[in-house]
Amino acid sequence: MKVLKFGGSSIADAQRIQTVISIIDPYRSQGVAIVFSAFGGITDALIDVSQHALLGDKDYRVALAAIENRHLDVVRSLVGIRKQGSILAQVKIRMNELEDVLHGVFLVKERTPRTLDYIMSFGERLSAYIIAEVLKDRGIEAEFLDARNVIRTDSNFGNARIDFETTNRNIRRYFEEHKGLQAITGFVGTSESGETTTLGRSGSDYTAAIFAGALQAESLEIWTDVSGMMTADPRMVRKAFTVPQLSYEEAMELSHFGAKVVFPATMQPAMAGKIPIRIKNTFDPEAGGTVISAEVTNGKLIKGVSSMNGISLINVTGSGLVGVVGVSRRLFGTLANEKINVILISQASSEHSICFAIESKYSLRAKVAIEKEFQYEIQNDEMEKVIVENDFAILAVVGEGMKHNPGTSGRMFSALGKNGVNVYAIAQGSSELNISSVVKEVDISKALNALHEAFFLSDRKVLNVFLVGTGLIGKTLLHMINDHYEQLSRENRIEVNVIAVANSRKMLFNEEGLDMDAAVDAMKSAGEPMNMALYTDRMFAMNLPNSVFVDCTSSEQVTEYYESILVASVSIVTPNKKANSSSLAKYKMLKSTAFKRGVRFLYETNVGAGLPVINTMNDLLLSGDKVISIEAVLSGTLNYIFSAFVEGRRFSDVVRDAKVSGFTEPDPRDDLNGMDVARKILILAREAGWDLEPEHITIENLVPSSCRGGMPVDEFMVALAAHDDDFERMRREAGSREEKLRYMAVLKDGKVTIGLVSVDNQHPFYSLSGSDNVILLTTERYHERPMVIRGPGAGAAVTAAGVFADIIRIGHYAK
Ligand code: ADP
Ligand code: ASP
Ligand code: MG
Repeated sequence: MKVLKFGGSSIADAQRIQTVISIIDPYRSQGVAIVFSAFGGITDALIDVSQHALLGDKDYRVALAAIENRHLDVVRSLVGIRKQGSILAQVKIRMNELEDVLHGVFLVKERTPRTLDYIMSFGERLSAYIIAEVLKDRGIEAEFLDARNVIRTDSNFGNARIDFETTNRNIRRYFEEHKGLQAITGFVGTSESGETTTLGRSGSDYTAAIFAGALQAESLEIWTDVSGMMTADPRMVRKAFTVPQLSYEEAMELSHFGAKVVFPATMQPAMAGKIPIRIKNTFDPEAGGTVISAEVTNGKLIKGVSSMNGISLINVTGSGLVGVVGVSRRLFGTLANEKINVILISQASSEHSICFAIESKYSLRAKVAIEKEFQYEIQNDEMEKVIVENDFAILAVVGEGMKHNPGTSGRMFSALGKNGVNVYAIAQGSSELNISSVVKEVDISKALNALHEAFFLSDRKVLNVFLVGTGLIGKTLLHMINDHYEQLSRENRIEVNVIAVANSRKMLFNEEGLDMDAAVDAMKSAGEPMNMALYTDRMFAMNLPNSVFVDCTSSEQVTEYYESILVASVSIVTPNKKANSSSLAKYKMLKSTAFKRGVRFLYETNVGAGLPVINTMNDLLLSGDKVISIEAVLSGTLNYIFSAFVEGRRFSDVVRDAKVSGFTEPDPRDDLNGMDVARKILILAREAGWDLEPEHITIENLVPSSCRGGMPVDEFMVALAAHDDDFERMRREAGSREEKLRYMAVLKDGKVTIGLVSVDNQHPFYSLSGSDNVILLTTERYHERPMVIRGPGAGAAVTAAGVFADIIRIGHYAK
């Protein structure tokens, strides 16, 4: 004999019931017990209607009519016209009974737990009845079994306990006499005094297990709307997958902490009879699903992560708690008397405080009861008032595999830490089957995803990128990520999703990930107005794990948000130099904030575009080397200009050509004034360990003084020609010594100077061409022959590649 159970989600409407019937059909001539929940959402609707009646709201009748119609519709759609009439009449008779009860509630303004149980029972009584009739109509030998006729309980309405002796006897006797398919009401029972009771929300699973236990069924199949028990709630963790096998204990822990596929109590009767429980998907019957059995399979450290919302933390503190025997007994005894279930307890070994978690709906009752129990201690200042904090959730990782296996909690808390999820309380049962921790409810989705990733996809990382700046670099970056997405995911197991893009006017978000190639156009046409404060608020509210903010602007204003971004545990990658080259205090603050929050602040492209300058230098320093001096050509534009400035050409013409070819800033004075080079060398110097401020740098400004200030660009281009002779003189002088002019930044003895220098043909910078950058690092180790880093130091493609590399670096770090 098999027992099957179909949950509310499997029988939410006629179409779904049709699917269920095709699953049941093969059993048409076998004895089988099939337990049904109420049609999806009906139990909630019944509670709601009774609540309205209780509050004297006449409209409860409207809602009741809607409930009635849902049932009538199913009959009309699934039963042949000939038999419809009598079934519709039966449904109406039951609905009238329900209406009478509700009218009573409406009149006396009272709804006892007993009445509520009776009201709720209509859901299952109608669903199982209707489905039995539908089956009969299709020629299946089905019988409707109202479980109230066999399941005997106590009178604990809303959560009745089973009298197994009577129940098992009743069930066995009933099945000896009834051999056909039984369509059974889940959730309901009868008390000794003959009143209708319910077994607690989700109790149909329990009903099914009770039948399975009593009938010593070969298996219990729970049919629901997911393919088994999964590694996490699939609504919260998109990458959750089915766990093929679980032990009873593992399943119990997972469902206890919120994986509601099976109701925890279900396990008991099945477990006692060692009956395997199969979780199957009504909408994908071929999928393997999960088998829950006595078997313990190891191999995986963790089988699942689950969570429970609506938790309050209660703190009881005071000197009176230290070493006093029996305090815990009194405390938890008080809670037990109040029928308040304590979900998790953590007590510091100093015994100065006890902290425990309960469902928020009980928190006020708990506080009042505890303060009453300990009123004398509170009066004598041996104990403080009870502190209640709300809006928490409990996270649990569950698995037999963590027994005696060190490192599980390390992995758990490091994943939470890296994502800025604060842990308020921790508990590990001595069974070592579960580690639970209390976190803020707002963090729960991020925490679940981070844990899921840490335990199940440990070699796979999903990065969530928030991009600001869709100019050349930003756009190139998007295309690059898009082009490499598949390969990165396959070979490096890093997935880079772009969640938001923005320019200075518009912003566009999509939590599921934007289509990268189309994102910029979509943003321009469908984006909302850009506002940096709103953008960051939205990013924080999404609270996604492994979030990376990528700033591809050169805006000072955007950098003002860096601190709050890092504080929110979001990493930053940027080619924007403005943050690191402003005050030393800001530079240091950002670095230390990133460090404290366990996130990264990466800006390799601040200097030399994609050239590996900052990382190389950091590696040297980390391994104990010291930077003695740096000489560098850091402006691709200026290098281009001085490479092209040869015999026979006029300086102003060279600048004009460079401008026309797009190698300069819109105003070439922004290159010639040396400020950009100053920012870069300042950052390098700081990275090398010198505490320098911008004003410590001596800059030779190549813009002749008469051309500075507010003069328009066109005028400047003309005015510059008046100085061609000066530049020509410098060039010739250098040429006479067989030297070349280079605009160089030098850090030496802690001092930075920037200016035009002429170098001889022995100097490594002599042969520089085009827009190359070169950085010469003299360190304690690279002393005789300095290290040279050289290559294209400007351009959207190399810069975007450098930014992309930093993003991937975060992916590796996050693993
Ligand atoms: P039914 O209506 O069949 O009783 P429930 O809604 O009670 O179904 O339970 C199934 C739901 O449980 C799934 O749709 C899923 O959203 C949720 N769920 C939560 N945690 C898990 C998990 N770890 N594995 C599978 N489903 C889960
Ligand atoms: N219908 C009941 C509920 O919604 C029992 C069940 O679905 O298991 O709680
Ligand atoms: Mg359920």
